Amino acid sequence: MRNAIRLGSLFGVSIFIHQTWIIIFGLVTFSLIAQFGEQFPQFSKPVQIVIGLTASVLFFSSVLFHEMAHSLMAKRGGQPVRSITLFVFGGVAEIEKEASSPNQEIRVALIGPLSSYFLAAVFGSVWFLAGKDASVIGSVAGWLGIVNFALATFNLLPGMPLDGGRVLRGIVWRVTGSLERATQVSVSIGRNLGLMMIFYGLWLIFGQDAIFNGLWMAFLGWFLMNAAEMSGAQLLVHRAVAGVRAEQVMSTDCSFISGGMSLSEFVESYLLQRGYRCFVVGEPEHPRGIITLSDVRTVPRAEWNNTSVQAVMRPLDQLSAVAPDTDVEAVLQLMVTKNIAQIPVIQEGKILGMIARDQLLQIIQNRIELRPTS
Ligand SMILES: [Zn+2]
Repeated sequence: MRNAIRLGSLFGVSIFIHQTWIIIFGLVTFSLIAQFGEQFPQFSKPVQIVIGLTASVLFFSSVLFHEMAHSLMAKRGGQPVRSITLFVFGGVAEIEKEASSPNQEIRVALIGPLSSYFLAAVFGSVWFLAGKDASVIGSVAGWLGIVNFALATFNLLPGMPLDGGRVLRGIVWRVTGSLERATQVSVSIGRNLGLMMIFYGLWLIFGQDAIFNGLWMAFLGWFLMNAAEMSGAQLLVHRAVAGVRAEQVMSTDCSFISGGMSLSEFVESYLLQRGYRCFVVGEPEHPRGIITLSDVRTVPRAEWNNTSVQAVMRPLDQLSAVAPDTDVEAVLQLMVTKNIAQIPVIQEGKILGMIARDQLLQIIQNRIELRPTS
């Protein structure tokens, strides 16, 4: 995910917090300070702040616990996990591979809500033992118990990308033998769940005057709808390019030009003359950078005569590059997250070829359309 800050790593999984999460952390902490402050007015303001902050940190640790449960179960079943990111709507574990079997899919999905129910039981016991709502510890634990219970239950709704949606996908996959079919079912339920939540949110806003809760519900529904669509599309792309490497889709018709050439000569003799997609500055053995149409465009036309190619090229050491055996899915992800249009394929300092985003998307499109149906 973009705009995320790395906190550290746990069990070999990197933990990130997304920028949007900082806002939600602030809001939750603020409302908890107010809530527990009202309940325990005998404490001074700094103590109330500590109570609210502790509850908030424990809440987000609960979300992390839930995602960690998914991650460890995935790793146990041979699915590498890159990272966990906490963001505005909770957390997401980035599992690199699709589950190899329906049972693995179900196990990985189910352990999340189960771990949240487990936390709910633990906090519930603390609430009971600590004198229920009469004590601060009891009160905070009680709140955490309810929140974890709600988190688990909400996540069990049977639509993608929620855990319940993944469980359903696993079950349909097992019954029909088709992951595609299973994904379609689960994605369409997820989409409808999102739509229902949007309508419910609108009803809260206009029918019940509950503006904040209504907006939140509608926003969550909208997010769910989008995420459902995305998880469907992701699977299509994943299956279309599984096992395809960068060297198989790169264009190798690179043209090598000297750094001293003027932009006007480059435009006249190369850009306008040849259909190449790949212009490398330097010699094949010693490439120094690449230059594209958009680099040329950064210079006003009047200055093309006295501007050299090397003045506007993108030096090799500042470029995101990939190795020939990089998975195409990883290449696409790099292009999307860093918003790059062209990526060189480099081995031992030599440019082997170039991958352009529009070209790559076309290849993926073709592969999706020509895929044998199963
Ligand atoms: Zn989950």
